[in-house]
Amino acid sequence: MHGVWKRTMAQNTTKTPLKQIVILGGSYGGISTAHYLLKHVVPRLPENEACQVTLIGASSQAMCRPACPRALISDDMFPQNRLFVGIAELFKQYPKGSFRFVQGTAMHLDDTNRTVAVTLSDGGPKIFVFHALVIATGASTNSPLLGLHGDAGSLRASWAEFRDALPAAKSIVVVGGGPTGVETAAELGEYLNGRAGLFSSKLANPTVRITLVTSGPRILWYLPPSTAETAEKYLAAVGVNVIKNAWVTAIEPSDAGAVKVSAKAKLALDDGTTLDADLYIPATGTTPNTSFVQKSLQTQDGRVNTNPSTLRIDKSGPRIYAIGDASSAARPAIHLIFPAVPVLCANIKRDLLLAAGVDESSIGEDRIFKEDTRETQLVPVGRSKGVGAAMGYRLLSFLVWAIKGRDYWLWTTGALWSGRQWAKES
Ligand SMILES: Cc1cc2nc3c(=O)[nH]c(=O)nc-3n(C[C@H](O)[C@H](O)[C@H](O)COP(=O)(O)OP(=O)(O)OC[C@H]3O[C@@H](n4cnc5c(N)ncnc54)[C@H](O)[C@@H]3O)c2cc1C
Repeated sequence: MHGVWKRTMAQNTTKTPLKQIVILGGSYGGISTAHYLLKHVVPRLPENEACQVTLIGASSQAMCRPACPRALISDDMFPQNRLFVGIAELFKQYPKGSFRFVQGTAMHLDDTNRTVAVTLSDGGPKIFVFHALVIATGASTNSPLLGLHGDAGSLRASWAEFRDALPAAKSIVVVGGGPTGVETAAELGEYLNGRAGLFSSKLANPTVRITLVTSGPRILWYLPPSTAETAEKYLAAVGVNVIKNAWVTAIEPSDAGAVKVSAKAKLALDDGTTLDADLYIPATGTTPNTSFVQKSLQTQDGRVNTNPSTLRIDKSGPRIYAIGDASSAARPAIHLIFPAVPVLCANIKRDLLLAAGVDESSIGEDRIFKEDTRETQLVPVGRSKGVGAAMGYRLLSFLVWAIKGRDYWLWTTGALWSGRQWAKES
């Protein structure tokens, strides 16, 4: 551990009257877990086990992350007061002292001494002692345009930089043939080029040349080939050209897209050709935000090694759990976080009661999480079209638009962020 943390730990370890349930990460996993615990677990603990929920997040605001492909274009796309919500406000409904929000970034987990070292938003270091810990720090995209990297202010600054450069752009390259790449290319296509008429399959002379590059033989590889073909047709209608089976071997300058979102870039492809982009967006997957967790608790792909049934981190000390994109328990998707929350919280409750000395026979068994492996993926392709499947069944374009494409799930976040979604114990 770094010297500054050792010193801070000696001086600053807080003696808290209440046992701490610390949650790291204030987004889909972390906020949902906090609400559920405060509604259904904390009030039912015996007096000697009274707990406070401390939510520690790098951003003071939560956001509707799926909306990024459209939101990055302009603030007019969504009501900003619904796209971003202050986390602390969401928890004012709970009894005083039962919850606190701390803006900071977890830097080091010590699962033996049961502490997390955090850099607070004002730069100061602080050590948090925990009785139970939930890691919900998610995953980051390569492009800073597609989610929170630090505070919401830094996401807004990236959008502002990109938007300033957008009017002069004549060519845009998006790399990544998954949903995020397809959605981003399509949103930009429809915004900048419009849409081909009803009887044309392709936009003849797009104002801005938009290219979507994928290393695979087709885009949207999780969906059936015929669905991917339909998506490609919808992309052509908004002036997006798809290049398949192409690996990007070099990007010049190397920080274009990933750091400088408004930089012109030259991309070399493995077939020897190059693409010049006035704007370049890497949409090539995510990296788990787990650098503060020791390697021995991680899987090979950097997620926290989580028991997929109980959501405990079996290799760590007791009462440490993970949920969401930072966890190895399930595929990274919001609809897989929702069924995991009640299971996680039931198992936390069980562990807290056992720690309080309650007899195991009166507590019952662990609750078991089972990932739904049927494919559910909804991909809007511009403002009025979309492709996708729900629980393995193909969805019509109209349904994809109605469920997701209209507002990219913003219709769901009111109940989620406020905790209404977790009003009933389930
Ligand atoms: C563009 C895009 C579109 C998507 N669309 C969909 C969709 O339509 N449907 C769907 O099911 N899924 C979708 N996903 C996936 C979905 O967004 C994720 O599954 C979901 O956001 C994961 O939630 P989470 O709470 O695990 O983490 P995240 O949403 O990644 O949030 C993690 C939080 O932790 C904070 N944090 C990070 N590191 C630290 C640290 N060290 N200390 C403290 N705080 C930290 C971050 O600031 C952030 O607030 C999409 C993803 C992207 C990128």
